Amino acid sequence: MDVRTTERLRRLPPFLFMETRRRIREARAKGIDVISLGVGDPEGVTPPHVLDVLRRAADDPSHRKYPAGESRGLPEFRAAVAAWYGRRFGVHLDSDTEVCALIGSKEGNHHVALGLLDPGDVALVPDPAYPVYTASAVLAGARVVRVPLRPERGYRLDPAEIPAADARAARLLWLNYPNNPTGAVATREFYREIVGFAHRNDIVVINDNPYSELCFGGYRAPSILDVDGAKDVAVEFGSLSKTYNMAGWRIGMAAGNRQVIDAIVTVKENTDTGVFTAVQRAAVAALDGPQDVVDATVAAYARRRDRAVAALRDAGYAVDPPQATFYVWMPVPVGLTSMDFANRLLETAGVVVIPGVGYGDRGEGFVRLSLAVPDELLDEALARIAKAGDLSPSARG
Ligand SMILES: *Cc1c(COP(=O)(O)O)cnc(C)c1O
Repeated sequence: MDVRTTERLRRLPPFLFMETRRRIREARAKGIDVISLGVGDPEGVTPPHVLDVLRRAADDPSHRKYPAGESRGLPEFRAAVAAWYGRRFGVHLDSDTEVCALIGSKEGNHHVALGLLDPGDVALVPDPAYPVYTASAVLAGARVVRVPLRPERGYRLDPAEIPAADARAARLLWLNYPNNPTGAVATREFYREIVGFAHRNDIVVINDNPYSELCFGGYRAPSILDVDGAKDVAVEFGSLSKTYNMAGWRIGMAAGNRQVIDAIVTVKENTDTGVFTAVQRAAVAALDGPQDVVDATVAAYARRRDRAVAALRDAGYAVDPPQATFYVWMPVPVGLTSMDFANRLLETAGVVVIPGVGYGDRGEGFVRLSLAVPDELLDEALARIAKAGDLSPSARG
């Protein structure tokens, strides 16, 4: 039988990281020794006290049942998230109505689309952006309108660039600061402007914020919820994946507008039934406990960022040091597309980077390098990039 898939699936852009994994396999099969600066999957240690709680929780038979506290999440987890928002941002949240647990921020992005977008509705997605926003909107049957992020504005979305008809029609706007892939950051002033725009146009804003804790040099990422009126229009997604090196555990949170939270919870109730309770207990330990592992993780990324920026500049690449995230957004030499550059770097240097075009048309001209690799591998990759002299901007003029 020839299985017919849905229009939705056929409309999905190819998932970038699957394509990257395929290229890595091919190169390895050809005998190339590959170092991947591709996927942003943290390799650091999960805090030991968090592992201890998970181990003990796994032994507790009460955790073998469906997740306690319904799909919304364990009351203790929601309270820990609310307390964390209070400590970290000075934002007050009602943990009963304004917080829910997520199976990672990725799940939240998908389920909020299913909860808020009808077929044909308009969703505003920045360009470039993490591909999951477009994919989630497409799976919900929505129409995606891309909004350019421009380097000269620090990659902060300008609502004035959204055509009035699209602004009126739009139901949802995705934002993501600190930003993957560009490393750009937001200010509270910027969030104020966005919240005003959302109010005027009746648009729900999703701020996907999994990098809020990976900030360098005294910079602290703000929360969109720390703006007057934000809870009328906005929800923020957080994640333990990047902060606590827990990507495989699948836990994150949504916070903000209660109707949006309810919509997400309703979808979850009918699809996944929530997060493994033992993982939620461990997440409480992560949020409430000592943050020294986070400090060490951030210090490691800051060190790698400095090394990468110095080495790439020496090799002729005009890179800016990001203030947050573990990505470096690097312009490719004139005359090469991001895909050409990424392919040639893989063939000549055995280094994998992600072509910017995978994040949208506006990502063309750049590649993304991930710093979520051990120091030695990063240094080796940087040395190889420097040696791939015929690719470098100075050699190409
Ligand atoms: C890594 C990443 C996620 C995924 O986070 P999970 O909580 O692991 O699902 C979501 N959004 C962005 C922008 C990311 O880079």
